[in-house]
Amino acid sequence: MSPSFASLKLPNIEDKDWEKRALSILQGDGLRSADTHLIKPVFPGLKGIDIYLKDESTHPTGSLKHRLARSLFLYGICNGKIKKGTTLVEASSGSTAVSEAYFAHLLHLPFIAVMPLSTSRKKIDAIENFGGTCHFVSNPSEVYEAASQVAREVGGHYLDQFTYAERATDWRGNNNIAESIFNQMRQEAQPTPEWVVMSAGTGGTSATLGRYIRYRNFDTRLCVVDVEHSAFYNAYLTGNMQATCVTPSRIEGVGRPRVEPSFIPSVIDHMIKISDAASIAAMHVLSERLCRRVGGSTGTNFFGVCWLAATMLKKGQRGSLVSLICDSGDRYSSTYYNPVWLEENNIDIAPYKKMLDYFLDTGEFICNMKT
Ligand SMILES: *Cc1c(COP(=O)(O)O)cnc(C)c1O
Repeated sequence: MSPSFASLKLPNIEDKDWEKRALSILQGDGLRSADTHLIKPVFPGLKGIDIYLKDESTHPTGSLKHRLARSLFLYGICNGKIKKGTTLVEASSGSTAVSEAYFAHLLHLPFIAVMPLSTSRKKIDAIENFGGTCHFVSNPSEVYEAASQVAREVGGHYLDQFTYAERATDWRGNNNIAESIFNQMRQEAQPTPEWVVMSAGTGGTSATLGRYIRYRNFDTRLCVVDVEHSAFYNAYLTGNMQATCVTPSRIEGVGRPRVEPSFIPSVIDHMIKISDAASIAAMHVLSERLCRRVGGSTGTNFFGVCWLAATMLKKGQRGSLVSLICDSGDRYSSTYYNPVWLEENNIDIAPYKKMLDYFLDTGEFICNMKT
């Protein structure tokens, strides 16, 4: 039977036009962005060890999640899930929602962020400034179910960073963060890093770094640093991907109550678990030395870098170490930079701070504390 013209439904041209415009807007955001700096602070005590920090705080939306949000939007549009008028929903501890609210605003799409009540005020303000709506849950482990329920109720699309972060990014290159780092290192005295150090939220950035290191056959190893309250470290040690952590993470952006699907343990060479006091102390020390404030997860990264630098110095090794400044400390003036908050949370940073400052000035790591 030949189809009658009446039943022949052609694809809607208007939808196609919207997709084209949306892709060109996202690509335009990429074109207007410069690559982020790979800074090289000097630490007088660390002879032969070069430390580099990729400064992701300079993206228009203030964190490394700018990259992820752009990738998730492209992924959603190219998979036909995001169309004209689609309401977008996300589960987030804040940074991702800020970046996604920005892109939703660019594309004139409604955006709803589902976040823990503990999310910093500055992130909430940023989301609302971009026209997004915030929906709160009391415990971080509730964000997934709440976000998927909100998406069902409004007939929207759940972006689901924790599932899709590892696959929305082109791991072979396309100027992903790994390719950018290795390109920026090319003219350095020690161009191939001994280690790249990264904390895990979705696990997406560490997955991209680990895959890219293998793909390009570099001798670099990947060290993932986990925080006090998080399921990742336990899962890495035991192989139990069902591991959970009941206590919510205090370091925003990293540490998760469950092992996220985007966390890929097989590409990680080593993991270190770092106490929150050590992370926040390292954040303060680095901020003082850079003369500007970095965020808590950057402190976690920096403590891991110091730990590896100490190990290398002890063995008489030279080499370079690379990590990230994930976001700026301006978002945390009422928490990590507030002595009252530290005291309320029973976090004593003084001993770690003293130890790190001494280490950076002398190269001697005197550590009798749990890391
Ligand atoms: C998301 C995030 C991280 C971790 O990056 P992932 O790629 O999600 O593992 C670190 N720091 C901050 C501030 C973040 O928002």
